[in-house]
Amino acid sequence: MTSLKRVGPKVAERLAKLGIFTLQDLLFHLPLRYQDRTRVHPIGSLRPGAQLAVEGEVERVEVKFGRRRSLLVSLADSSGRILLRFFHFSNAQKQALGRGVRLRCFGEVRNGPNSLEMVHPEYQAVSSGATLEVEAHLTPVYPTTEGVHQLTLRNLTEQVLALLETEPKDLTELLPEPLRQGLAMPDLRQAILYLHRPPPDAPQPLLLEGAHPAQQRLTFEELLAHQISLRELRQQQRQTRAPALLGDGRLRRPLLAQLPFELTAAQQRVVGEIERDLAEPVPMQRLVQGDVGCGKTIVAALTALQAVEAGLQVALMAPTELLAEQHLRSFRQWLEPLDLNIAWITGRLKGKAREAQLERIAQGEAQLVVGTHALFQDDVLFAGLGLVIIDEQHRFGVHQRLALREKGANGGHRPHQLIMTATPIPRTLAMTAYADLDISLIDELPPGRTPVQTVVIPDNRRDEVVERVRAGCAAGRQVYWVCTLVEESELLQAQAAEASAESLTETLPELEVGLVHGRIKSDEKEQIMARFKAGEIDLLVATTVIEVGVDVPNASLMIIENPERLGLAQLHQLRGRVGRGSVDSHCVLMYQAPLSANARQRLAILRESSDGFLIAQKDLEMRGPGEVLGTRQTGEVQLRIADLVRDQGMLDQVREAADQMVQHHPEQAAALVQRWLGQRVEYGRV
Ligand code: ADP
Ligand code: MG
Repeated sequence: MTSLKRVGPKVAERLAKLGIFTLQDLLFHLPLRYQDRTRVHPIGSLRPGAQLAVEGEVERVEVKFGRRRSLLVSLADSSGRILLRFFHFSNAQKQALGRGVRLRCFGEVRNGPNSLEMVHPEYQAVSSGATLEVEAHLTPVYPTTEGVHQLTLRNLTEQVLALLETEPKDLTELLPEPLRQGLAMPDLRQAILYLHRPPPDAPQPLLLEGAHPAQQRLTFEELLAHQISLRELRQQQRQTRAPALLGDGRLRRPLLAQLPFELTAAQQRVVGEIERDLAEPVPMQRLVQGDVGCGKTIVAALTALQAVEAGLQVALMAPTELLAEQHLRSFRQWLEPLDLNIAWITGRLKGKAREAQLERIAQGEAQLVVGTHALFQDDVLFAGLGLVIIDEQHRFGVHQRLALREKGANGGHRPHQLIMTATPIPRTLAMTAYADLDISLIDELPPGRTPVQTVVIPDNRRDEVVERVRAGCAAGRQVYWVCTLVEESELLQAQAAEASAESLTETLPELEVGLVHGRIKSDEKEQIMARFKAGEIDLLVATTVIEVGVDVPNASLMIIENPERLGLAQLHQLRGRVGRGSVDSHCVLMYQAPLSANARQRLAILRESSDGFLIAQKDLEMRGPGEVLGTRQTGEVQLRIADLVRDQGMLDQVREAADQMVQHHPEQAAALVQRWLGQRVEYGRV
């Protein structure tokens, strides 16, 4: 970088903040938009809103003393006049702007009190008789950061583009000719030159959308590089070994026989897919996606039993204590009759109790271990771990997944991994962020569920909502009342829930009100949940801790306070806590008025749809992949130019091209990954 003029260590450091480390990075740092300084417009033709250049003579200069002192300059050409307005100006500046001086100005035209104006235009005096040249290209406006000026970036790109003329090696064309012709894409150098310095007639609206062929060319190349790199990751995974877990069905058969229900066709299909994976001597990396309530837990249990039948241990990890406890309960109920031993590890478990559990795990006495992240602390040693099951995977990223697998390494073997998520991951994201996983879909709910009816109500109708709760409980139903907060703070969340519980207890004295939040001790929480499940509590006030896992079929009404604060996918999951029995269920989204247009639109999606995938897709369109996946994930899908929502139409072509590249042009494929992902790939290899 420092080989460029005007780049010393200081500037280099600032550029690094923009992700610019090499000349090539600079070339891939594309303009956000453009300004047109290629023409001078007649002043009489101006319309408000346009950003453009004009030239004229100063007619009049005056300093106006109002609320703010300002310098007003009237500029005219043969077609009309415009007012230039400056709030900050020096005396020298004012002197230089005398009557009759010719000025070339560039700025945004807007409606002033009496006429069209430009506020603080860029300007330059034109000496009499001389003509100023116009720019030959549209002027790029780059993303900047503190301490890096627009002009610096223009100057630097100018230098690199000039180098490109003489030394094109910095930008070798890596897409094979036939591929490029088949896709009718411009070559890389042309595309880059065009985007940094477009010709005067370049279609600006198309460029703003990112839909210009030159942009599409780069987008394509970037997506291709990601696709190839994820394929490599998979290839490597296939080279590691895992114990083949055949299993003889001696445990699965009695479990299925004792279940009060039949597996749905979707559950059976997914169980079959997993069964085949586990029988291979290659670590399974499978993601099971299924909407809330589709029955993923029993699928996990059957998977676990296959490993236990084969004589190995299983670790089941959940993201929260509450969820881990719930799984522990389900698994005890299902598996203890089969004489299985289940151990239990969470962050709260300490001292002797913890040591006892560790001992059971290390000796292999416990075939199944349920817990939170604490399962993977250094002193948790397994006698023989064959399978790791992770529930609610969207909180873990690729690197964490691989790290977990390494922890479970046993000799040359890695455990199999099964990952379960209720967050429906739109296809576009699944193909990029999760391309290292095989995906199974449980796309069917158990029979007898009725969709939850959702209404959206402002909180000034709270009384009505409270009456609904009263009526519901009087009819023998149970109710969830969910409090949300913007702050992540568990303490504030807990306080909000406590306040709600208190006021509801007061207004509804005939009801038994329970309260759960993140700061209540886990055994106490468990007791409350158990009482709610047993029907002893009518109204359960809760924070979003009940988001996942909790299963109470008699609960058929849910109130969510301030739903506008949560993402759609999260709301959908919350709502999935009701509608589990056969009675009609309702969800009331009680928002704080007034609601922004965007929030209104989002809540309407929830009211109209109960399809988790559609909701997630909309959420993605409205909030972007980072938000939908949670911040931890964004590091993985960081794209410089491509946009997974905007460019999803390209993904099929990208996959085909990735096949071709890997098979027929492995060297270019590797160079492409290096160009776009550089060091990040090394990191991905853990
Ligand atoms: P999730 O996929 O959200 O984790 P669960 O595994 O908690 O869903 O299942 C939700 C409820 O549905 C549980 O009470 C479970 O016992 C029940 N269930 C699961 N599979 C079936 C099925 N095939 N038929 C009927 N009920 C089922
Ligand atoms: Mg679940």
